[in-house]
Formats: sequence, structure tokens, C-alpha cells
Amino acid sequence: MRLGAARFVAGETLKEAIEQVRLLNNDGLVVTLDHLGEFVFDEHEAFASTQACLDVLDAIHASGVKSNMSLKMTSLGLDLSKELCMKHMRMILDKARELDNFVRIDMEDYAHIDVTMEIFDELKREYGKHVGLVIQAYLYRTVDDMKRLETEFESMNLRLVKGAYLESPKVAYPDMADVNKNYLKIIEMHLLSGHYSAVASHDDMVINWTKEFVKKHNIPNEQFEFQMLYGVRPETQRELVREGYTMRVYVPYGNDWYGYFSRRIAERPANALFIIKNMFRK
Ligand code: FAD
Repeated sequence: MRLGAARFVAGETLKEAIEQVRLLNNDGLVVTLDHLGEFVFDEHEAFASTQACLDVLDAIHASGVKSNMSLKMTSLGLDLSKELCMKHMRMILDKARELDNFVRIDMEDYAHIDVTMEIFDELKREYGKHVGLVIQAYLYRTVDDMKRLETEFESMNLRLVKGAYLESPKVAYPDMADVNKNYLKIIEMHLLSGHYSAVASHDDMVINWTKEFVKKHNIPNEQFEFQMLYGVRPETQRELVREGYTMRVYVPYGNDWYGYFSRRIAERPANALFIIKNMFRK
């Protein structure tokens, strides 16, 4: 952890994570906290992850920090059974509703997308504004998925991302230019739909395009937010706050940081260089 992941992971304990959230809040940033974990194949472990999510919601409430929560359903036993995962999701969403908070379901690899959509649809009907989803621009199916969600539900809070997993060209655009094009298309669609949008990207092209678009179409700041990952472009995050935008930082914490950390390195090999440089710095 000390050899690099600490730049992207806010500690191994919830206490450490809450301290980091408080510091971010002091700079005007809001947060979504994530207890790291994914691809769990053991029932006890899935239950432990569920308990960790409940603890996160309690800690946010008790400390009064400005944060909601993100989670990965494979950490709650999605690969063991849909029913088990739904049982765990309901425990978490009951708590979120009780504490008037919000839970974002991260979107994982393509193999899980259908079951994630099925579960989300059901939970959205039960828990309304307390649950949201992520949509990945690299998938061919994304525009259709979004259209369906926007018309089926009255309020549809979506985080829009490019997509982080290595997918087959049978299901996802292999070329980044096409991903970017589709990304701008879904941001435009969702902003114009009147639903709440979270534009989650570190890409200046995307951020500047979004700023121009909302200005041109008189979309109020209350209808969207920017999101970035903890440790990535921290100065830009604060600049967006100074410009008056809502900027939410995705703050992961916990022991199971390897998969998350590896994706950050794969996305941007320069991150590895940054870490190596910092290893030798006091
Ligand atoms: P990239 O295409 O990675 O980068 C484009 C440009 O951005 C770069 O060329 C550079 O100019 C700039 N840039 C990027 N990083 C840096 C940096 N460190 N320093 C300086 N400039 C930089 N993916 C999923 O599949 N499912 C999810 O649920 C999910 N949730 C996410 C939540 C949040 C809050 C964020 C920010 C991302 C999430 N992602 C998720 C990851 C996402 O899909 C992308 O893989 C990731 O954000 C990289 O794409 P990008 O838009 O940031 O830009």
C-alpha cells in the first residue's frame, strides 16, 4: 500500500477514510465513499462486505461528512446468486433510506451487465431516489439502455463514464475516438432529458465540452455534477469547485485495493511513473 496505492486509496480503515473525506469537504469537494471489494465468491465474505457498506453509511451519518456511497455488487455475492445479492442490497438500501442517503451501483464488466440492470430496475422501483447506476460509453448497447431508463423512471440519477474494463470488440468500441464520440452523445442525451447527470471523467476535452454545453442550454448546476477519482487531478478538482460546480470525489478505502489500483495503472501508465518517482521522495 505504501509503495503506491496510497495515492489512490484513502487508507485501509473506515476511520482513516472518514478523515480524508473531511479534508476533501473542507476544500469544498463532496464525496462518494467506496469500501473496496469485487468478485467475491464466498458467502461469508459477501456478508462481511455488506456489513462494511452498512458501517460506511452509519459512519457518514455519525460524522456528518458530505458523502454518499458507491459499491460493486460482485462484492455482495452477485456471482453466488442474484437472490443473495438482492438480499444484501436491500439491507444496504433500507439503511440508506433510513439515513436519507444515496447508493450508487458501479457498473462492472460486461458479463454482469444484464443481471445488474435487472437488479437495478427492481431496486429502483422500491427505493426511488436512494439508488443510482453507472452507464459506460464504450458499450454499443448504452444509448438503448439509457433511453429505456430515462423513459421508465421518473428520476434517473446516472453516472456517465467511458468504461474501465477490457471488453471484446463484439460488445464495446475498440477505438477510443468512438468511445469519446459516444460519451459526448450520452452526456448530451442525459443532460437534455432533465434527469440528474454525474459526468465522471478526468479528460479536459469532456469537462470543457460539458461546461460549454450546459451554458448553451441553460442547464442549472443543480442538475449535474462532475466526478473524479481520489488522487487523480486534485488541482483540477479544486478548480472546478472554485468555478462553482459540484465536484464529487470517488474515495475508495479498505484492504482489497489491488484490482482497483491495477485499473488505474492500466488506464494511464504515467500513474506508475508518478508512483515510482514518489517512492523516492520524502
Ligand atoms: P481517459 O480517457 O483515461 O483520459 C483522457 C485524458 O484525460 C488524458 O489523455 C489526459 O489528458 C486526462 N487525464 C486522465 N488522467 C489524468 C491524470 N491522472 N492526470 C492528468 N490528466 C489526466 N468505470 C466503469 O467501468 N464502471 C464504473 O462504475 C466507473 N466508475 C467511475 C467513477 C468515477 C468517479 C470515475 C472518475 C471513473 C469511473 N470509472 C468507472 C472509470 C472510467 O470508466 C474510466 O475508465 C476512467 O475515468 C478513465 O477515463 P477518463 O474519462 O477519465 O479519461
